[in-house]
Amino acid sequence: MKALAVYPGQAHSMHLEEIPRPNVTDIPDGRGVLVKVLRVGVDGTDKEILEALYGDAPEGETFLITGHENFGKVVEVGPHVPSTIRPGTYVVATVRRPGLSIYDQIGLQDMTTDDVYYERGINRRHGYLTEYYVEDAAYIVPLPASLREVGVLLEPVTVAQKGINQAFEIQRRLKVWQPRRAAVIGAGTIGLFACLALRLRGLEVACYSRRLPPYLNSNLITAIGGQYISAQEKTVAETSTAFGPFDIIFEASGFSLLAFQAAEVLGKNGVLVLSSITGGNASAEVNVDRINQSFVLGNKVMVGTVNASPADFVSGVNDMVKAEALYPGWLPQLLTTRVSGLENYAELVRHLTEDKQAIKVYMEVAREEE
Ligand code: BGC
Ligand code: ZN
Repeated sequence: MKALAVYPGQAHSMHLEEIPRPNVTDIPDGRGVLVKVLRVGVDGTDKEILEALYGDAPEGETFLITGHENFGKVVEVGPHVPSTIRPGTYVVATVRRPGLSIYDQIGLQDMTTDDVYYERGINRRHGYLTEYYVEDAAYIVPLPASLREVGVLLEPVTVAQKGINQAFEIQRRLKVWQPRRAAVIGAGTIGLFACLALRLRGLEVACYSRRLPPYLNSNLITAIGGQYISAQEKTVAETSTAFGPFDIIFEASGFSLLAFQAAEVLGKNGVLVLSSITGGNASAEVNVDRINQSFVLGNKVMVGTVNASPADFVSGVNDMVKAEALYPGWLPQLLTTRVSGLENYAELVRHLTEDKQAIKVYMEVAREEE
């Protein structure tokens, strides 16, 4: 069968590989789930892998099969797979696999303290841009059939879920925390999903991003009752004066300076969630006394977040079901750019790297009827 792979360390090396089709018995103890891949989304991480700035092949191999934002349908299951996963079930597999730290051993490899981490389609484990994959049932999340059209969005949804779930977990220290106002910095895929999750939790949401409205992303924010603010019209501080003070700020713009501008204006007892993976080397001047003093006097928290735990996948599915009920048609609008057929990978790469209007670029590996 076909798979889309890169040679890590070699920029623009995406190519088709011919690999053997996996078997349900490849996974021990009868826990195997064989999945036919339907759709795989791509994001900034894939862009970095394409440019050979990130990612590695499995040990002893020359190529890495890419793709981590997966969605598929179960073909076959081993005898010890739970009854929630049957042939025909729509599923998404998680991305990170356990290493050695204590967190990995309790199923929280998203919190690993190991230097090396294993992520399917990203680092040292093959991904999902292939016709079939097999996986241990422990890493497979079932989706209701009602999410068939939008299920490929679950993995990026979980990245926003983790940050917000962590914020609520942290704020349990306050005994009473009734957040009312949230700001999300960045209106890309993760920013949009953070806005959605915060709206679904009953908060007022202001989304701060570069472009002038209106455009698709700003319309999506207002469609769920959020405010869209362009960085060309207001600074972060002015946004806080107009719509804050913010109890929670979620940074997903990819621009680190904004994280520290947000830190300057975070509300008392507030939490600032950082989710941008900024591979660059930028430095900037910020008012360290003001940030430090406001964090001290205001009992504020700044927290980083990456990947997602099994619980974040569960809350992600729940939020997607809720979103389809409350804002029907909202999630499908994020699926802006489809490319069909693994052999058309050059088109996928072109959209990912050049299409500035696209929200989610994805590969339709197979159509369901086939
Ligand atoms: C993925 C995460 C992953 C992170 C770091 C993101 O694009 O969605 O699952 O942990 O990259 O590799
Ligand atoms: Zn990703």
